[in-house]
Amino acid sequence: MRGITILGATGSIGQNTVDLIARRPDDFTVEALTGGHNIDLLAKDARRLGAKLAVTAHDNRYADLKAALSGTGIEVAAGQGALMEAAQRPADWVMSAIVGAAGLAPGLAALERGAALALANKETLVCAGPLVLETAARSGADLIPVDSEHSALYQALLGEDMASVERVIITASGGAFRDWPLEQLAAATPEQASTHPNWAMGQRITVDSASMFNKALELIEAKEFFHLDPEIIEVVVHRESLVHALVGHIDGGILAHLGPADMRHAIGYALNWPARVDLPVERLNLAKIGQLTFEAPDPARYPALAIAQRVMRRGGLSGAAMNAAKEVALDAFLDSRIGFMQMAEVVTRVLDRIETDSGLIDAAFDLDNVLSMDQIARAYAWENVNSGVAAVT
Ligand code: NAD
Ligand code: MG
Repeated sequence: MRGITILGATGSIGQNTVDLIARRPDDFTVEALTGGHNIDLLAKDARRLGAKLAVTAHDNRYADLKAALSGTGIEVAAGQGALMEAAQRPADWVMSAIVGAAGLAPGLAALERGAALALANKETLVCAGPLVLETAARSGADLIPVDSEHSALYQALLGEDMASVERVIITASGGAFRDWPLEQLAAATPEQASTHPNWAMGQRITVDSASMFNKALELIEAKEFFHLDPEIIEVVVHRESLVHALVGHIDGGILAHLGPADMRHAIGYALNWPARVDLPVERLNLAKIGQLTFEAPDPARYPALAIAQRVMRRGGLSGAAMNAAKEVALDAFLDSRIGFMQMAEVVTRVLDRIETDSGLIDAAFDLDNVLSMDQIARAYAWENVNSGVAAVT
């Protein structure tokens, strides 16, 4: 029996993880599940999986969770401290599926303890790549990617000599607006941005897919995870979302990873790694699919990609700044305070300011510095939004 903890169990990745665990009750015991405001779902899954501990991130929801689990013997807790406690429970395998920089500290806590960390929370590597890898190396913890592109790269790179790798290509669906005329993007609404052509995911990553801030985060995530030179990482638009990533070698050969657009493949791979087990995902019928298409991303449509290149070249804590500014810009867009294309403008202005006025960008990679950079970038981004420079016109 392996002990499992799911951080962010009530989200899209969390629910796919719960689905896989629930199918094999004899193989896993559940140490802890964490969630946010969706108390009913958290309580339902804690009962179903027989979790020892259920945690809501919100202090003011403690009583609701307590009531929902009364009489079950399941321990209940709430708040940031309780999230850290959940991460520190003695699970063998921890799924990091909280959204945003909020997932960094709990994921690190699990790594410090030496748990295998299945990393869906890409922000962890974007904000603090060197710190995360160094923590895993120190404790001997395994870090297994769950983002579909990175799981694909991980699988395609197994047994390969990194010295022979000359290109790493991650695919992008193009998101909700890939076929919209460019001039209409400025007026895109949060509702329109919240529908993905191929994947069912949480709202924030879905909007980030439309802007390609998701791909921007993934470029940085790939650079950090696989220690890549940013110059060899490419993005190609692939509408079908069936090829997830490709690795090109110096002999001209390219290894591609294909699979259905179902996160249970990457989650299941991480859950069972290094073994492969039968997973409840569709098998691709290539003859029926017929064709796979690839096109270059348009830089005018997706300014986030150039922002990622800038961050990868600048290094230091610029990833933490970019992510925080992006989270604020996304909140402001979802609140209809700025337009869709202005998210990239806000992030660019924050990076301009951070690069010129903050010595913190080259500070050591420890959690305090990363969180300070996160706070500064958030404050700058809100100033930018509130100043009206980026207001919806
Ligand atoms: P989601 O919004 O569906 O779920 C997020 C989870 O985190 C929920 O359980 C929520 O309660 C919890 N949460 C939110 N804010 C929190 C906070 N401040 N503190 C503690 N808990 C909080 O998100 P998702 O789509 O499942 O994505 C989760 C992570 O996985 C993200 O980093 C995302 O980029 C990454 N990811 C998701 C997918 C996908 O298919 N959904 C694919 C690849 C990577
Ligand atoms: Mg992805």
